[in-house]
Amino acid sequence: MSKVTMRWWGFGLLALCTAALAAAKSPSSSPADAATAKAILSELLAIDTTYEKGTVAAVAALRSRFLAAGFPPTDLVVLANPAKPSQSNLIVTLKGHGTGKPLLYLCHLDVVAARAADWTFPPFAATEKDGFIYGRGSSDMKGEDANVAAALIRLRREAYKPARDIIVAFTPDEESGGSEGVGWLVNVHRDLIDAGLVLNPDGGTGAFRGGRRAFYGVQTSEKSYVTFAVEATDRGGHSSEPRSDNAIYELAVGLQRLSAHKFPIRLTDTVRAFYARQAQFETGSRQADMRAVGNGDVNAAERLAADPTDNAQVRTTCVATMLEAGHAENALPQRAQATIQCRLLPVDTQQHTQATLEQVFADPALKWTVTRAATPSPESPPTAALMAVYDRVVHSMWPGLTVMPSMDAGASDSKYTRAAGIPSYGAASIFIDLEDMRAHGQDERIRSNLFEEAGEFTYRLMKAFSAAGMP
Ligand SMILES: [Zn+2]
Repeated sequence: MSKVTMRWWGFGLLALCTAALAAAKSPSSSPADAATAKAILSELLAIDTTYEKGTVAAVAALRSRFLAAGFPPTDLVVLANPAKPSQSNLIVTLKGHGTGKPLLYLCHLDVVAARAADWTFPPFAATEKDGFIYGRGSSDMKGEDANVAAALIRLRREAYKPARDIIVAFTPDEESGGSEGVGWLVNVHRDLIDAGLVLNPDGGTGAFRGGRRAFYGVQTSEKSYVTFAVEATDRGGHSSEPRSDNAIYELAVGLQRLSAHKFPIRLTDTVRAFYARQAQFETGSRQADMRAVGNGDVNAAERLAADPTDNAQVRTTCVATMLEAGHAENALPQRAQATIQCRLLPVDTQQHTQATLEQVFADPALKWTVTRAATPSPESPPTAALMAVYDRVVHSMWPGLTVMPSMDAGASDSKYTRAAGIPSYGAASIFIDLEDMRAHGQDERIRSNLFEEAGEFTYRLMKAFSAAGMP
């Protein structure tokens, strides 16, 4: 069996798959640099950085690494919101020649909770087995944190002086909203992280599918998140004498109308470019529709939107997620409330969405409340100059791989820097198996060999974007 066919046959068969991957070795860092990244990852995985535990210990561990690597203490700033001292931030600077505003990396250190009883291996430890590294945060995003830290240490050792400063913010609280991390830094310490460009390895995708690299997605935008409560009220009464007025029925009529409503299709630059490039992986009418969406064809987008994943790319969505009504089985309801969860395109606003919902429900007696307000997050433009840098660095690692801009349906800390007017882009380095996504889940893991090559990619991307004349 040739290596190429072995790679295809290896799909689903771990041993063959791993062998094929090893054969297709990408450029990687020196063994010493790879060992540094791995040691940092192991150290971070062993520290519980859930919101409850905070990030003080992880920040101290990283700071020691940077001190040992020769970073002056003045370039290592540790700070936290005085009201939340457990949510510690570390700002590391690699000084440049001062040409242009700094390049800022966003690296959250916190992780979502993990119950040891649900896991095969201890969640708060690094376990390497059968070509994988297991541990809570390995893919989201301590593997990336370790690679960014190791790249900085390598640049320092090589006495590399970038054109502009490279600043890395290692932050807490991304998984619980980011208000003590990037949100707080942007509001209170903008001077420390003011930048011309943000790279966020938490966003974007190195996509691995069927045992091979499929594409590289540069996250340029994300949907924002807003939640409404809508309430119907009534005077109530005895259930033995029903009347036509009824809070449950009144709300149900509106919900029925919402279920049939479609928000208008709006094709952003990112989504058009995404489909234009994604089309090559499809065939037939789906391929033709994707190409047409690339050219702004709204009807083609409507056909694609039959698939919920595509639907989320081309329009704002709102959906009923919770209901609460009535107070006794033998009483007419005095109150009925629904929770409506919306994901807004970057071109949409909370106010406009609420106005649309009120129009759809068409019932002035209903009371609307915003229970979670949106953080508006404009699209960072996928300019030709920017995409060319990604193309160049990706192709230096993986020749011919398709690079495309992408919009995430979820949210990352980039929402804060985008809202602050700093163009922000995904910079994921570790390829993730699309058939084996475990971020936030049980037995979270990354492939050891993909982690290792990702270290070299992170180094090259950091160097490229901190050079002179970069976007
Ligand atoms: Zn994350």
